[in-house]
Parts: sequence; structure tokens; C-alpha cells
Amino acid sequence: MLQKTSHFMKQANLINGEWVQADSGQTIDVINPATGLTIGTVPKSGAAETRRAIAAAEEAFLSFRKTSALERANLLRKLHDAIMDNQEALAQLLTMEQGKSLTEARGEVGSSAAYVLWFAEEARRAYGDVIPSPWADRRVLVTKEPVGVIAAITPWNFPSSMLSRKLGPALAAGCTSVVKPASQTPYSGLAWGALCEEVGFPKGVVNIVTGSAAAIGDEICANPTVRKLTFTGSTEVGKMLTGKAASTVKKVSMELGGNAPFLVFDDADLDRAVQGAIAAKFRNSGQTCVCTNRFFVQAGVYDAFVEKFTEAAAALKVGPGQEEGVQQGPLIDTKAVEKVEEFIEDAVAKGGKITTGGKRHELGGSFFQPTVISDANMQMKFTKEEIFGPLAPVFKFETEEEAVALANSTEFGLACYFYTGDLGRAFRVMEGLKYGMVGVNEGVITTPEAPFGGVKESGLGREGGYQGMDDYLDTKYVCIGGL
Ligand code: ADP
Repeated sequence: MLQKTSHFMKQANLINGEWVQADSGQTIDVINPATGLTIGTVPKSGAAETRRAIAAAEEAFLSFRKTSALERANLLRKLHDAIMDNQEALAQLLTMEQGKSLTEARGEVGSSAAYVLWFAEEARRAYGDVIPSPWADRRVLVTKEPVGVIAAITPWNFPSSMLSRKLGPALAAGCTSVVKPASQTPYSGLAWGALCEEVGFPKGVVNIVTGSAAAIGDEICANPTVRKLTFTGSTEVGKMLTGKAASTVKKVSMELGGNAPFLVFDDADLDRAVQGAIAAKFRNSGQTCVCTNRFFVQAGVYDAFVEKFTEAAAALKVGPGQEEGVQQGPLIDTKAVEKVEEFIEDAVAKGGKITTGGKRHELGGSFFQPTVISDANMQMKFTKEEIFGPLAPVFKFETEEEAVALANSTEFGLACYFYTGDLGRAFRVMEGLKYGMVGVNEGVITTPEAPFGGVKESGLGREGGYQGMDDYLDTKYVCIGGL
């Protein structure tokens, strides 16, 4: 398989169009989570390499900012085509470093391409305004300009598509970039460098640096040339970066943790709800920020839901992502497995009942059984913390008001889902939920056309939609006098 993916598997930083190693020559091993074996290495870079990448992006910005929207749209269209032409090789690479099933990896690569195409189209619609002037001899214009050099820090759970939502709008707007992919899954990020070179983005427009998160992150935050930081990852790191970026007053976009509730009312189509529940919980082995963390089911359908959901979860095929038909790959590492075990132990001690799963999978390594826990209560740890694994706690509720209050009783506010057949309830509940995204009778809702993002401590800014361009553009007011 290395043969197939080797063209994109870059084991170097991309700085100013050159593939280079860390100054120290040090590297980080990249592990295949399905086998525990080393796939290859990437440079262990720090502040100095990051500074050079930022300088290269600054230099490239001088000319890239002057390209027309049409030129940038055409480059992005070519990038879209290159991703789709290589979908299989990119999916193989993604599965190898991340562990997700090939079906999901193909989907992620397809989604990356879709974001790029969306922003290719949006590039040509970064409209300004001509405002009716209050003065007879002056005119009032508002234009949109690229913010300049942006930095993107991305996580390991969607190493390709999370970058597409950041590089897509950045390049569409005319910004240049420095990217730091997660050390667990750097190759999908580095592949973007190879693809951008191939389709003709000028050198320095996309720079990619791998290595010490703290050293690279600190340089990005402190460097005044970087005008925007876009981050997807944990709330803990996001808060820290938001604080550090304040020292140079950068724009920030933060896609942070979630604690998604999934409400099932007595009047719901139960089979549809179970199908949505499986997708909303077990996608990417539960390792997405929009994965359901808490299921709340109304008393009248509670037992029936638990039974059907348990049956569907138990039927999921666990195995190495490369194997056709596999629905759930390994978790990213053993630390993630231990965290899931802790949640289960805590829940069982507090009265939770395991209806399926509950243990490490017989395949060993970081494989884990899809797990459902019934009789969950608000004393259990997962009411407050993100599980990020294949564990589904199911709580019981009586009334609509109670369900909405329970769903909102968290500092997070990213995605939420609910199932009902009643139109009035659909509106009441939708309006009552304090979340950035709501799925009504739908468990998977992400699409490039819609703004993705959270409220409260789940983050700042939106990715995708026409809104996704905003953070990469500065608004300039121009007053023309003496007419
Ligand atoms: P997760 O818990 O999902 O691994 P993290 O927030 O730790 O999420 O990681 C998301 C991204 O943030 C990764 O690219 C990681 O390397 C990076 N990161 C982690 N710590 C820091 C830091 N101190 N400064 C900058 N980036 C960081």
C-alpha cells in the first residue's frame, strides 16, 4: 500500500516551495493505529522553521493578493479535480495514519474536495458595498481584502477535511498560509502541499510545518505577521491559543469540543432515530466533535429505543479500516482507549448498565467494542466531558422542558440532534437548544454549503457556507471626497 500512496506521502516540511527537514534533523514517528507499526517520520520542527514559513507566506502574499478572484477560483477548481483524481490514494493514506474505515476515508476526501469547490465558487462573490452617501460631494465604498498571512492548526480526527475548510476560504480570499497538522496524522496535511504545488499555486502560498505543537503554536501566536489563526481541536488548547493570539490581536476561528445531545421524543420515528443515532455516535469510532455524547430518550419509547439501538450497535463490524465492509476502525491510540474505559467504569459504579460492548475488542491494540450504556444519570462523568470514543450513554426523560434543559446543561454548544414527528415541538425544541447546529430528524448534517460552528465554549467563527469566507477577509471603508 505504501507504493500506492508514496507520491503524496511527504516526510518533510514545505517551506517556500522546498521540501525540507527540521533544522535539528530530528523527526517524529508516525504510527498506523490499526497495526501499531511505524509508517514513516516527519520533521520535528520548532520556532525557527515556523518563522521561515511565515516569512515565505509574507513574501508570497505580496503577489498572491493581487491575483484576480477568477484566477484563484480556477486554481481551486484544479485543486478540487486533483483531489478527486487521487481520491483513492488519499483515502488509503488517511486510513493508514488515522485508522478510520476506507469508506469513511473516501467520504472525507470527497468532502475535502467539495469544500474546495464551494470556496472556488465563493471566491468570486466576496462582494463589497456602495452605500448611499450622506454627503453630496462624497462617495462611500466598502471593499473586502484578504487578511494576509493566516495560520491553520488542525487535529488528527479529520486531517484532510478540517484543512479544506481553512485552506479553501484562505486561498479563495487571497491569503497565504502556514499549516501545522497534528503529529499523529501529518501525511494527509502534507499531501495538500503536494497537491497545491501540482496544480500551480505559487511557492510560499501554502507552507506546512510539522513538529512541536507548543513551539510552532507559540511562534504563530507571537508573530505579528500572522493576521489570523484558525484552529480545530480541544477546548483546552483552543482557550490557550485564543489567549496567546491576543498578544498580537489576531482574528481567531476556534472549532472546539462538543457535548452533543441527541433527543428522542415519544412521537419520533424510532427506526429513523436509531439509524441517525448510529451515524451520529459511531462515525469515526466516536471521534468527532459533533458525535453524540449524550442520548436523552423519552420514557414512553426508552426501552424500545435501547433495545433497537443496542442491536444496531452490536452489529457494527469492527476491524482494520483497510478491510472492505469494516464500519469501525481502531481508536487513535491507547490513551483514547483508557479514557473510554474510565468513562465506563465510572458509569457502571454509578448504576449504568452495559447493554452491549464495554470492553477492548478481541483484535487488541486500540480497537474497542461499540458500547451502549442504559440507565445513565447526571452524576456520571460523560455528562460534563467529551467521550471521543464508541460509547453511547442513554438517559431517560419525562417532559419536553426537562429534555431541553438537560441538553443545554453544558458549557459546550456545537451540534445537537433531536427526533420528533410533531411540527410544533420541532420548532419549540429547535429554538430552545443553545447550539450552533441542530439536526432535526437527521444525525449527520455537515455540508460545505452550511455554516459549521459552535456557540459558548465550543468556539468562535463559522466554517463553510458563505459565512466561511468572512474570517479571511478584512472590511475596508473608503470615503471618496471632493467630487
Ligand atoms: P486532541 O485532544 O484532539 O488531540 P489537541 O487540541 O491536543 O486535540 O490538538 C489539536 C491540534 O492542536 C494538533 O495539531 C495539536 O498538535 C495542536 N496543539 C496541541 N497543543 C498545542 C499547543 N500548545 N500549541 C499549539 N498547538 C497545539
